[in-house]
Amino acid sequence: MSYRPYQQIERRRSRQISVGRVKVGGDAPITIQTMTNTLTSDAAATIAQIRRAELAGVDIVRVSCPDVESTAALAEIVREVNVPIVADIHFHYKRAIEAAQAGAACLRINPGNIGSAERVREVVTAAREHGCSIRIGVNAGSLERHLLEKYGEPNPEALVESALEHAKILQDHDFHEFKISVKASDVFMAVAAYQQLAEQCDHPLHIGITEAGGRRAGTVKSAIGLGNLLWAGIGDTVRVSLSAEPEEEVHVGWDMLKTLGVRNRGVKIISCPSCARQGFNVIATVQQLEERLAYIETPVTLSIIGCVVNGPGEALMTDVGLTGGGNNRHMVYSAGRQDHTIDGGSMVDHIVAQVEAKVAAIQAEETAKKALAEGMASVTEDVAKRAMAEGMAAAE
Ligand code: SF4
Repeated sequence: MSYRPYQQIERRRSRQISVGRVKVGGDAPITIQTMTNTLTSDAAATIAQIRRAELAGVDIVRVSCPDVESTAALAEIVREVNVPIVADIHFHYKRAIEAAQAGAACLRINPGNIGSAERVREVVTAAREHGCSIRIGVNAGSLERHLLEKYGEPNPEALVESALEHAKILQDHDFHEFKISVKASDVFMAVAAYQQLAEQCDHPLHIGITEAGGRRAGTVKSAIGLGNLLWAGIGDTVRVSLSAEPEEEVHVGWDMLKTLGVRNRGVKIISCPSCARQGFNVIATVQQLEERLAYIETPVTLSIIGCVVNGPGEALMTDVGLTGGGNNRHMVYSAGRQDHTIDGGSMVDHIVAQVEAKVAAIQAEETAKKALAEGMASVTEDVAKRAMAEGMAAAE
């Protein structure tokens, strides 16, 4: 999606796995994940929360399965939502088997923590039989004792070694449908661990900064750590961990991907911080537009700039633009060009309508392109069939 050389990100090559119908790794788009915080045994509350995350654009949702009541609720949850579900299991291998049977698309479990070789074999067999992938999830807060003794403290090398030990167990069972995470709440440690792991294997990577904090500080911390990795082409699926509602994690994840141009969805608003020169209240306008345009999924860009200092320049690079002018009259831009003026009173309604019209035009263009491509494909097929028939007739 990048359109300038300095905006190109070269993505690390990884193998591809399936999490239900969603592909992770390889050339698949980088996906956004979140995790529910309801009791999984409360299926109705969990389904409602997953649906809110779906509206925000989530691709994959993880639910904890700490007890048999949770895995019992899983079948209903899987049936009622549209995104694949990852069952988060810690030690209980039976919960993993139950989750696989209940329709989980992926199990988050570390094979080294399951216990005996027989239990590992049972879990891998269940995953294979039910088409589940696995996420190995190493966390600096729960590293194995032998690695803590070897390294003295959690560090990137210990995280990577732990991940590769778990991976070897799955590989020894000829199971390769897995992705790996090596999370730490320390942003330096997490980034270094992912960088090292990316060098040492080709498995898809689930990236995240664990226990990042509340909405504001956690967003900043995640953006620094995950932004660094994504910019370097590392990461196939992203979870932003915030002490906030799951849909908030999804919004932040999307904003990271949109900022780096690695995946786009919905309205990307470019707005100025505002100052004494603003021709209208930029902050209130942007807040209203964010809310009213949140439902749009088609990628479209919108600039909301308080005055002519930066407004025309930003409008050049966006699909729809608004620049504050004097006397409560403001300039509206379309595809970078001055189009018409609008007064402050009806401005928000007007910009919403402009963006909706732009989205409709983009969708119509995409439909036309698709129809043309399909038409060309069927013409090419007809030509090939005719040429083959003529060739066969000539050969006879
Ligand atoms: S674009 Fe204009 S209103 Fe916005 S911050 Fe800059 S000078 Fe101020």
